Amino acid sequence: MPDIKKATNHLEPLSHLDAQMALYFPGRPGRMGVQDMPEAPVIRAERHRLRHWLSTNLKIQWNKRVSRIEEDDQGVTVFFEDGTSASGDILVGADGIKSVVREHVTGKPNSELLKVVPLAAIVGEVTLSGEQFKRQLALGHSAYVYVSPDLGFWNFCALHHVLPDGVSGKHYWMFMQPDVRVAEPDHWLQTATQEEKLDHVMKAVAKMPAQFRELFELTPVEGIRKQPHVWRDLELESLPAGRVVLVGDAAHAMTPFRGEGGYHAFIDSLNLSKILSRPGFDVKDSEAVRAAVSEYNAEMLERGTDAVRNSRNEQGARKTKDGKLMSAGQVVRPLPEVAIVLPPVQA
Ligand SMILES: Cc1cc2nc3c(=O)[nH]c(=O)nc-3n(C[C@H](O)[C@H](O)[C@H](O)COP(=O)(O)OP(=O)(O)OC[C@H]3O[C@@H](n4cnc5c(N)ncnc54)[C@H](O)[C@@H]3O)c2cc1C
Repeated sequence: MPDIKKATNHLEPLSHLDAQMALYFPGRPGRMGVQDMPEAPVIRAERHRLRHWLSTNLKIQWNKRVSRIEEDDQGVTVFFEDGTSASGDILVGADGIKSVVREHVTGKPNSELLKVVPLAAIVGEVTLSGEQFKRQLALGHSAYVYVSPDLGFWNFCALHHVLPDGVSGKHYWMFMQPDVRVAEPDHWLQTATQEEKLDHVMKAVAKMPAQFRELFELTPVEGIRKQPHVWRDLELESLPAGRVVLVGDAAHAMTPFRGEGGYHAFIDSLNLSKILSRPGFDVKDSEAVRAAVSEYNAEMLERGTDAVRNSRNEQGARKTKDGKLMSAGQVVRPLPEVAIVLPPVQA
């Protein structure tokens, strides 16, 4: 596999900048956060680059949508919407939050399993260049949060990725407010225009210091996500152990506030691979398969549901039992103030 950091880093071509998430607490001087360090690495991967990296040496058949699954002691067969099918020993359902494989394994519809997270969300996207881009990088190379519960909302402002010119970048933000009615069909966000959503955000962020308002102010109306977004998550207490296994969001969909969903999808896949590749494991032996999957499920469900609950309740950072603030798996500490230097613009 190519080096994962080089291949997926969202700061490329600005590889002199380390991945960094900053937290700002009004009233407290300086900034806190976490940063990629040799002793505590943080990889901030751009999604398309990560998918490309993951597909190294794999022959993928695209546009195969699972519609039905049949399973017995001999094996498992997947039927696709295009009329084709595939048979094998084990099926790994990594089909995300709306998993069809999950519906098969649990025997329950997703509408019953997924729970609404009572938060109204508005999402914006904007491309910035030059000094504006530099100011956002200075606030947090990868992302930052202005932590002020008094504001009545919270925000996550992030760099999607740097553009190839090295002097511009695509940014996005998520603006969120507690709202128990968010999934109701008559909720205002179901029909709000992009302009109405941006107006709503601009009124709310007016209370923030200028440097934290800038990203919202620079976002054009057409940069506001049109579709309403309702966060949903999933806590599974148990899963039957058989020839169909779940990994990632199919098993434990969570809100993205702690940036952990993808991380847990990796841990699931690595753990499952280790268990299934143990010397002596016979995939044709249904009892052995049940025992292996049951072992995998036990650890995965405990770790996964813990992450789902924490992601719902703790936004951006969490406190450990001894009171330390953690984000992206690291202890939050003061971040150094370093001037952002961009390469000269190419003629
Ligand atoms: C805004 C946002 C920010 C996030 N930030 C982070 C972060 O910083 N760090 C982090 O670790 N995680 C983050 N996450 C979470 C992360 O994206 C997910 O946890 C991760 O993508 C889950 O991977 P997955 O393979 O389980 O599912 P997915 O990535 O959802 O992939 C599922 C795949 O299955 C396919 N599929 C669906 N149905 C079918 C079907 N019937 N048949 C065949 N294929 C099907 C889909 O097309 C898709 O390709 C974020 C999520 C969001 C929404």
